Amino acid sequence: MQKIYIFLFLFFIVQHASSNEVSLIQVKEDKNRSIEISFSLDKVSYIKSYSLTEPSRIIIEVNDSILKSQEEKPFNFPIKQISTLQDGPISRITIDLYEYVNWTKPRQIKTKDGVILSLDINRSKDNTNNIRDIIVSIDPGHGGKDPGAVGENNILEKDINLLIAKELERTLRDVKGYKPVMIREDDSFIDLNERYLKARREGADISVSIHADGFRLSSVKGASVYVWSENYSSVTAENLSKKQLKSKIGEIGKKDFNEDEARASFESVYKIKVNNSKVLGNKILSELRNDPYTKLHKKTVEFADFRVLKSFDTPSVLVEAGFISNPDDAERLKGKPGRRMIARSIFLGIHNYFKQNSINESHFENNSSFVLYEIQKGDVLSEIAVRFGVTVDEIEQTNMLNNKSIYPGQIIKVNI
Ligand SMILES: [Zn+2]
Repeated sequence: MQKIYIFLFLFFIVQHASSNEVSLIQVKEDKNRSIEISFSLDKVSYIKSYSLTEPSRIIIEVNDSILKSQEEKPFNFPIKQISTLQDGPISRITIDLYEYVNWTKPRQIKTKDGVILSLDINRSKDNTNNIRDIIVSIDPGHGGKDPGAVGENNILEKDINLLIAKELERTLRDVKGYKPVMIREDDSFIDLNERYLKARREGADISVSIHADGFRLSSVKGASVYVWSENYSSVTAENLSKKQLKSKIGEIGKKDFNEDEARASFESVYKIKVNNSKVLGNKILSELRNDPYTKLHKKTVEFADFRVLKSFDTPSVLVEAGFISNPDDAERLKGKPGRRMIARSIFLGIHNYFKQNSINESHFENNSSFVLYEIQKGDVLSEIAVRFGVTVDEIEQTNMLNNKSIYPGQIIKVNI
């Protein structure tokens, strides 16, 4: 008899350790009538979310998980009901809606007990579809105790990377339809695993890492774009990735997501990721080619074992803005114009990528040939023109500005 109890006890432990239970926690409406829907999970998971029309609904699929209970719950407007269904290893959550809404991709927040999965829904009278922002993870390389490469006059790679990242963040933040997520916002140290894990928790649609490494030969210069591979495409690629691996890799905790396991189980998803990473890399590379400040180190996308690009499903690229061990590159990246050009090439590359791989529910589904930019305090047209690679005349004509002054909060259209 005792043996059976021990067996049952062990069985329970094994079951519990490997299971990932999903349950609805709450639906909360705040003062601004934004509705937050939260679920609890045991660990960070592979989650797919998308919206459908006729009828309007949002679907969330949590892979390798078990629903704690399957029930339908009615809620207040605009939510009709939230229902759940176990489909093999997938827990499918359906949020039925009375109308089209703006929504956010679910984020995963680690807590001491597990993970909270939450998304926001906002009503919008103008929507003819459910719409969400495209989430771009921006990963400035190195930081804190890890300075990265050190260039002439002690310029540190970590500082250059962060400044370029902030330029890119600013553009994405002020363009309607994008939401940047910064992997680090200041001079702090973040280990390599935590970088791509954070991008997953934030629901990133794509991820861009920014570096400006050094090389033992100071003659080596120019920008390059990398995607992940176990095999290196060149000696420089091998050298750079081995150097970056010296930054602490970090531990994967129980609540974290294992990218290696997922790559083996979802091979077709991984293949699409590899392909899309190359597409994204090529789009950025061709913008860098048009940049008058920057020379290319390699004309094609390179391959290297850069740990931060490991996500099995999120298209990920690493941009080397140049080699700060080279005096010309160091000079170029020390100045704002040079860094702004790198940020612009990355932004335009990202936008061109989404022109090709459009997300049905994004702002750009039917109008990717222009963006709407919100004027910020201190903005001048000449700077905005540089930011998007257009002329002041073009902006003035498109928006019929006729030498009128611009003001913060004004939305202008920029054809790109
Ligand atoms: Zn670096």
